[in-house]
Amino acid sequence: MPTLTFYGGVNEIGGTKILLEAEGTRIFLDFGMSFKIANTYFAEFLQPRKCTALADFFELGLLPDIKGIYREDYLKHMNRPKEERSVDAVFLTHAHADHAQYIHFLRTDIPIYCTKATKIILQVVEETGSNPFSDLITACDAFTFYETKKGTLGRVTRRNTDFVHERTFYVMEPEDKVTIGSLEIEMVPVDHSLPGACGYIIYSDEGNLVYTGDIRFHGSNQALSKKFVAKAKAAEPKWLLSEGTRIDSTQQDSEAGVKQEITQLIADRAKGLVFVEHPIRDLDRVNTIFEAAKTNNREFAVTLKLAYLIEALGALAPFSLSDVKILVPKKSWGLISKEGIDSKLVEQDYATWEREYIGRANSITCNALQKNPEKYVVSMSLWEINQLTDIQPEAAIWIKSSCEPFSEEMELDEERKRNWLEHFGIKEYFAHASGHASGAELKAIIKEINPDRVYPVHAEHPELFQEFFKNVELVEQGKKHTMQAWKSL
Ligand SMILES: [Zn+2]
Ligand SMILES: [Zn+2]
Repeated sequence: MPTLTFYGGVNEIGGTKILLEAEGTRIFLDFGMSFKIANTYFAEFLQPRKCTALADFFELGLLPDIKGIYREDYLKHMNRPKEERSVDAVFLTHAHADHAQYIHFLRTDIPIYCTKATKIILQVVEETGSNPFSDLITACDAFTFYETKKGTLGRVTRRNTDFVHERTFYVMEPEDKVTIGSLEIEMVPVDHSLPGACGYIIYSDEGNLVYTGDIRFHGSNQALSKKFVAKAKAAEPKWLLSEGTRIDSTQQDSEAGVKQEITQLIADRAKGLVFVEHPIRDLDRVNTIFEAAKTNNREFAVTLKLAYLIEALGALAPFSLSDVKILVPKKSWGLISKEGIDSKLVEQDYATWEREYIGRANSITCNALQKNPEKYVVSMSLWEINQLTDIQPEAAIWIKSSCEPFSEEMELDEERKRNWLEHFGIKEYFAHASGHASGAELKAIIKEINPDRVYPVHAEHPELFQEFFKNVELVEQGKKHTMQAWKSL
């Protein structure tokens, strides 16, 4: 009988790490980080230490202590003996940190399956992020020395390319099926607040399993989610792993509605600049803002990180980078806003990946925003908000197009942001749609797919599923669940 063990996503939104074992085949569905546990023990300058390799993560339950899945360099640093690989593959539903970030810790010889967009986004996170645990596409040997030309020992860094290893990635296209041992796994795209999201249908002799990943039915790719449900139903699954982020919500969200709201806010409320705060990698939302700006004859100015992502996604992005402006902020010595400085000197203010964007024809600085505020809609977050000092905006508005804070730390950030807005006399408006299906939608799809048994994951209140369905099995952290069919009990 196959089994499921849930090492995250239990009574929490995210942190999903699900181990499926069937006839000697072992695969992980997602391998994400738990924000809930991370926020319980860590904040800002208190973070898990790299110097302990996996010890801080094991101690506090951020990672399960399982043999045969973790990187050899980390195990060696902890004086643990070499281990045999014990997992056949990892299947990622999408690149959000709560589903993918902790592949950093996995052995590089464990194959990772995902969509093309997911791989690109992970690459962007690895190349532009500041998180020390972002060996997502490649892994650099940690705690390792090399012999320098002088014959002394040096510490290996990413510059020692001999010590940087590619992970084994397999990009799956829609309808692609792969066989891993006794399982056949099909990738099926879904609509979510990030490009490249998918669910999986897993076929086996013992029965079929459907995993929704994170799913919604109100974004611009909603047709994909509907197709997913039809395919899931056709598979006549014994088991359904369903996300339940909004199982307690009846609110019907709509991305098209957000577009209307933002378009209207710009038209009615904005005399000066419009700042929009949005989830950085939600390209559906980014496109919504881009369209709303265009309708109002304004240019959309994106951050360097967003520029990098749009360019990396290429044809998978909703528009081309040349269709928007790139806002190059002041950094380091702030030479970008000084006249007549050699471009080589200006470059030194920026990280290598950022330099690319400094001299582009569509690059602008805060000066342009200050001169023609009525011409722009600007992508902005708390982390770039200090540019308001350079811009000195007048009659500007701020549209918050992202979710409400869900941790104390986020509440504090929100308060800090409001202080900035108050200081500059900027009025804040709201327009947002969730990345997740509502409770009513989840109920409808479960009814439609009609599995023998439902395992709610990625939900703070999985017990609410039981109010609507009898065949719900609540999952426990770290416990092995034997997957008997409900009807056979
Ligand atoms: Zn998630
Ligand atoms: Zn997600």
